[in-house]
Amino acid sequence: MAQLATIAPYTAYKPRPFTRAQRDKTTILYGGLTWKHERLMQGVLRNLKYNAEPLPNIARDDLDAGKELIDTGACCPTIFTTGSLVNFLKKEVAAHGKEEVNEKFVYLTAGACGPCRFGQYHESYTMALDGLGLRDFRLFLLAQDELDQGSADGGGLEINLPMSLGLIWSILCGDLLVDLEYLTRPYEVNPGQTDAVLKDSVEYLYEVFLHRPDRGKKYGTLAWHLMSNYFTKALREVRKKWDAIEVDHLRVKAKVKVTGEFWLQTHEGDGNYNIKRWLEQEQSEVVPPPVAVWLHYLLHPEIRKLEHRNSKSKHPQLQHMALQGLEKIYRGTYNRFRKALANLPNELPDQVELKELAEPFYHFELRGGEGHMLIGKALHAYHHKKAHMICELSPYSCMPNTMSIGSMANVLGKYPDLLYAPIEVKGDAEVHALSRCQMILTEAKKRAHAEFEDVMNKTGLTVEAIRKYEANHPEVRRATYKVPHLGYAGMASNYVTHLARNCGVARA
Ligand code: SF4
Repeated sequence: MAQLATIAPYTAYKPRPFTRAQRDKTTILYGGLTWKHERLMQGVLRNLKYNAEPLPNIARDDLDAGKELIDTGACCPTIFTTGSLVNFLKKEVAAHGKEEVNEKFVYLTAGACGPCRFGQYHESYTMALDGLGLRDFRLFLLAQDELDQGSADGGGLEINLPMSLGLIWSILCGDLLVDLEYLTRPYEVNPGQTDAVLKDSVEYLYEVFLHRPDRGKKYGTLAWHLMSNYFTKALREVRKKWDAIEVDHLRVKAKVKVTGEFWLQTHEGDGNYNIKRWLEQEQSEVVPPPVAVWLHYLLHPEIRKLEHRNSKSKHPQLQHMALQGLEKIYRGTYNRFRKALANLPNELPDQVELKELAEPFYHFELRGGEGHMLIGKALHAYHHKKAHMICELSPYSCMPNTMSIGSMANVLGKYPDLLYAPIEVKGDAEVHALSRCQMILTEAKKRAHAEFEDVMNKTGLTVEAIRKYEANHPEVRRATYKVPHLGYAGMASNYVTHLARNCGVARA
């Protein structure tokens, strides 16, 4: 009788215990955000006495490594991030062998549930571990909606309030630095100065997180994070560093708001064709997407559910008030940090406004990815004149983004002058994606120049008069000088209007 092949039944992945005794010899790997966020997160983890290293930034060959090992229909962020872990582990295995790698590293990643693949990333990682023969490698999930998860099996990793609050605070600070960076670099007078100051600021804040005082594991640490001036003081020091950068706000740039799928829009590297740097080289100012908006968004479904009385809570009114209080504290903290940086970074958009703007086109209960936010953000930028165009980064094979792009057709029918570039990102079609973006960008640049000419005519100012004023008032050429938003998308247009209206620069 022919021998039947043995088929191994499916067994769900369960990490081996990570014990407290192993902590000193084990390194926690993580990734998925920008190098700025990741360095500050490293400060938080090292402050809690963990060895922690971010994975190398995503590279093009991570896509190939991911494709080889996980299901071919996966969305491109899943493939890239899995490939990044795979390539790292392959190198380590080649250098030290499987057993040592299984003992030396654990991987910590965000987990969620929901209708898109974000809830299944860990399945892709475990599929890849199987493919590499590293089933014993340990992978832990940091739930997005649970700040105090307690100890992972073995007690080596404790996902508690000091860790969660530290990571959230480091993300907020990372976002603020990213905002400063993109606001400044297109206008810097001395090329490279913004990047140098940025690096210095990140290292400074890394030390701040590394030396964060211990205030216990429960309410003491919560109260300290909310009330201490430890971080605002540090951010004021950062502001002083940015004071040194000289800028020229008369440069006319198209302002491009980057939206899209969470990972793709946040990422800086091959995963999205380095599109933010490319846009800057193409004479634009990029409005980057803060991670903080996503964290804010996570609070809202619960609030909406309670409003619609379909919550399972026994005390819906109390819970509603608690969530609204939490939201106020969250926004208040972000604004406190912004204030320490002269209010230069952008404000968080109002989630209720985003929902209402999107409502006619995309229902807020359609979850997955960024849900209704992509429509809401595009319309928010359009109505408030916060950008000349929207560049929406949509991963190949992403269900929520496909729906959002479909709905945007309806939005554009109603607002035909909204400049919108939906860029499908597969990871290996750079020329196609960038040339598509360039088509819309050309129109955005024309608008930026027309807007500027209009402002110059309206104010009657000349470049010579402005330069003369700047020579006598060098503070207006500092990166920390706040140019108010006076109804124009472009920085140069707002700057000239501000000089004419508020600084008394006279007509020629
Ligand atoms: S939002 Fe799209 S790209 Fe992102 S994890 Fe979900 S399915 Fe993948």
